[in-house]
Amino acid sequence: MQRLFLSPPHMSGKEQTYIAEVFKSNYIAPLGAFVDRFEESIKRYTGASYALALSSATAGLHLALRVLGVGKNDLVLASTFTFIGSINCILYQGAKPIFIDSDEGWNLSPELLKKAIHQLPKKPKVLILTHLYGQVAKMDEIVAICKEEGIYLIEDAAESLGATYKGQQSGTFGDFGVYSFNGNKILTTSGGGVLVSENAAWIERAKFLSTQAKEPFLHYEHIEMGYNYRLSNVLSAIGVAQMEVLNERVKRKREVFDFYFKELSAIEEITFMPELPNSQGNRWLTTLTFKKTDPMMVVNALEKVDAESRPLWKPMHLQPLFKDADSFVDGTSERFYHTGICLPSPTSASNQELLRVVEVIKKICQ
Ligand SMILES: *Cc1c(COP(=O)(O)O)cnc(C)c1O
Repeated sequence: MQRLFLSPPHMSGKEQTYIAEVFKSNYIAPLGAFVDRFEESIKRYTGASYALALSSATAGLHLALRVLGVGKNDLVLASTFTFIGSINCILYQGAKPIFIDSDEGWNLSPELLKKAIHQLPKKPKVLILTHLYGQVAKMDEIVAICKEEGIYLIEDAAESLGATYKGQQSGTFGDFGVYSFNGNKILTTSGGGVLVSENAAWIERAKFLSTQAKEPFLHYEHIEMGYNYRLSNVLSAIGVAQMEVLNERVKRKREVFDFYFKELSAIEEITFMPELPNSQGNRWLTTLTFKKTDPMMVVNALEKVDAESRPLWKPMHLQPLFKDADSFVDGTSERFYHTGICLPSPTSASNQELLRVVEVIKKICQ
């Protein structure tokens, strides 16, 4: 019996061929042809005009804030129901996160967003919006509010590569979008991220900052502080191979969700994370909430059959790190957190293998 992980790496089979090409060229590091190819593949797939391959999505979010001029004591709005990677970049810049709760769709509430903007003493500069578990947020409403209020939008699409809203790819609605290729995401380069934008000058500026802010002289001249955030040619080669199977991976992630839904949705106390009309999430992780069962009991029972599951993200406004931060919350994400779990959602496993997850949950809930 193989352990069922939440979202383990799933290679396409082409990775080693491309890595061999990299070794043959001896462009092991840092840059090389595969970095360009990886960026091209992201642009082609998502429709974004400009892309920058980076060492992580966290680095991409940080660069986006730097480029947008977010600095000390600036206010940055953000989804509270997210992973810390969305938020650390705000702290790197000495800015202040303001947390916004979810609505019944699990993603950021446009109503609370509006309320926050109108009640804050100072105008926030940026919203960092997470597409949670690969499901797209209410983009019509959120984009309209950001435009109207003059607030930059950065989409944290770390979990949602391949997800669409009205046919448009997540990550391409905002001023910037960021995809993650961390080990547990729908695709992986073992670690990596891609920053996208429609603004050529911004991506050029992010590229400059990501390579130690070297002025164009042979002797290494520096006027500004930079970072070492670029992705290597070897890891980009893995990325190119992974992008070739993105459609298959999204399809299989959605089948995994459909399988769990078919087996478990009849149980009265179980509610799955919804999908907005006109959108198609990538169902990175299948997630659900229970009405009365303690989610940790299910997590522990699944562990006994060697299946990995987890509670949902603990909202940021509940984290000790942010005990002094302002937040606009109404208990929604907190309720999800206390009642929900993520199920093992590997694209490499068969429905037959997932059956043991279903059986454990049925036994507990029926
Ligand atoms: C994984 C993740 C990140 C961070 O991605 P890295 O590539 O590991 O830096 C950021 N935000 C969310 C929502 C994530 O799930």
